[in-house]
Amino acid sequence: MIEPTSPRPDAATVLFNLPDYGVTDTDVLAFGQRRVRVEATAEAGCPCCGVVSTRVHSRRLQRLRDIPVAGPVEVIWSKRRFFCDEYLCPRQTFAEETAQVPRRARSTRRLRDTLVAAVIGSGRAAAEAASSFGVSWWLVQRAWTTRR
Ligand SMILES: [Zn+2]
Repeated sequence: MIEPTSPRPDAATVLFNLPDYGVTDTDVLAFGQRRVRVEATAEAGCPCCGVVSTRVHSRRLQRLRDIPVAGPVEVIWSKRRFFCDEYLCPRQTFAEETAQVPRRARSTRRLRDTLVAAVIGSGRAAAEAASSFGVSWWLVQRAWTTRR
């Protein structure tokens, strides 16, 4: 019998479709808005020495701006801080980061890419793209100037 080697993601994770993240909880807020709680599923490597760590130091909740997924969603990332187990490394702990949410970012890459595509592809003004996605003009401008 052939069995898959990786665990199959649950339905909410498949629908939310944010790479390297899994949905851990969902809620319906007032006015029908939904809250999605996510956790990173990728391995975390120390940014200083590169050693992969699995020993969690602490967690904190970080709100992420993201694209609407079947309507507006509030995304809460349960972000982990890990111990670096390399005894020669000067860092004691480090916070995880992903390709979607690099260090110090507060929005997902897919949101920034979508904002740039809205400005380039449809020729919309930055302010118009910002209001249609419910983000600030500054975020659209920053996504535009730092686009890949
Ligand atoms: Zn390290």
